[in-house]
Amino acid sequence: MAKHIVILGAGYGGLKTALETRKLMTADAARITIVNRHPYHQFITELHLPAAGSAAPQKVRLPLDKLLGGKKIDVLLADVDRIAPDEHTVYFTDGSMVSYDYLVVGLGSETEFFGIPGLQEHSFVLKSVDDATRINQHIEACIKEYARTKDDTNLTFGVGGAGLSGIELVGEMADMMPSICAKYGVNPQLVKLLSIEAAPSILPGFPETLIERAKTSLEARGVKFLVGVPIVKMESGLVHLKTGETIPTKTLIWTGGVRGHSVVASSGLAVDGRGRGLVNEFLQSTSHEDVFIVGDSAIVMGGPNGRPYPPTAQLAGQMGIHVGRQLHGVIKGTKLEPFQPHLQGTLASLGQKDGIGMVGDKKREVKGKTALWLKGASQLRYVWQIGGLFTRAE
Ligand code: NAD
Repeated sequence: MAKHIVILGAGYGGLKTALETRKLMTADAARITIVNRHPYHQFITELHLPAAGSAAPQKVRLPLDKLLGGKKIDVLLADVDRIAPDEHTVYFTDGSMVSYDYLVVGLGSETEFFGIPGLQEHSFVLKSVDDATRINQHIEACIKEYARTKDDTNLTFGVGGAGLSGIELVGEMADMMPSICAKYGVNPQLVKLLSIEAAPSILPGFPETLIERAKTSLEARGVKFLVGVPIVKMESGLVHLKTGETIPTKTLIWTGGVRGHSVVASSGLAVDGRGRGLVNEFLQSTSHEDVFIVGDSAIVMGGPNGRPYPPTAQLAGQMGIHVGRQLHGVIKGTKLEPFQPHLQGTLASLGQKDGIGMVGDKKREVKGKTALWLKGASQLRYVWQIGGLFTRAE
């Protein structure tokens, strides 16, 4: 009888798991159900585009029924409430449930607020297409409100955290501000776009040359960096910095870090201190062999300097393919293989005309149009790999 594989989450890791598993096993050997909250797969790495207004939300998502249609993969639209690994059952928020022989958890990550008072209540996050739409509508509303009232708190936009997410977002916002302002007859020079970073430098862990490039490029387009300045508190309309200064603003977009998904942490699966599922070399949960964990929901050791691998879309996709192969191994009774990522580098946009990155085994530095072109090519390759190139967005 076919084994039932349930995959939680249709992100980079979950989707690749489903496609690889189906490629290797027919429906007689494996019944596959992929569970997702939304009826679409989201390009999380591209959310800064609709947030700033430079791409429509439809450009950063693909409908699951079209992506998976004809592949004998069931799509279940549901919100996971709880995993009961000892019962081999997943419970959903609507009261329904599903049983599995093998479970793959690919629920992604959640925003880390580090317990900073008021931050969760009074900031925007950028974790979904809906979040991006909310941010974009809010930015427009602020500019429109300024045009009406001349209250300049409307024109201060803060981005908390200058890691890759914060930098890509602030770059896109810098490029889009002139056209949004023009729509409401507002002088774009009056806009204050702040990138607030706690660490002594933006893009911690990046080489100095790329950090400098990012800084000068963004400053030239009006971004002001507050570096080495942690945000310590947030109130409605007011950001508090550790220096004692405050910034009156209606907009703080928080990109200050991620932690594991709360469902994983509360499921009885083994997790680390930041709620990420602990996995062995085959990507099985260290506490439950019949549960595999992919993407940001897991912590994968063996990265640079003995640290965990950074949670990227690239890593998640490779984990998904690997888990598809391991499920085939488990069901067919062959030997499991350890996971060995082959990371091709990191690429980030600095708005629409500039970018930075490190590519290849030697981490060659790339800048400008080359970095942007490589980023575009890698996104195109990904869409082609998941069979979405000719799938119409909705
Ligand atoms: P991150 O953890 O990499 O960066 C968060 C930043 O916020 C850090 O620089 C941190 O010092 C800062 N911060 C934390 N607390 C703060 C405070 N109180 N006040 C001000 N600043 C504070 O998070 P991210 O940028 O969301 O990235 C998450 C993961 O996703 C990373 O592994 C990253 O590499 C990956 N990512 C990759 C890409 C890409 O490849 N293009 C894009 C986005 C994210």
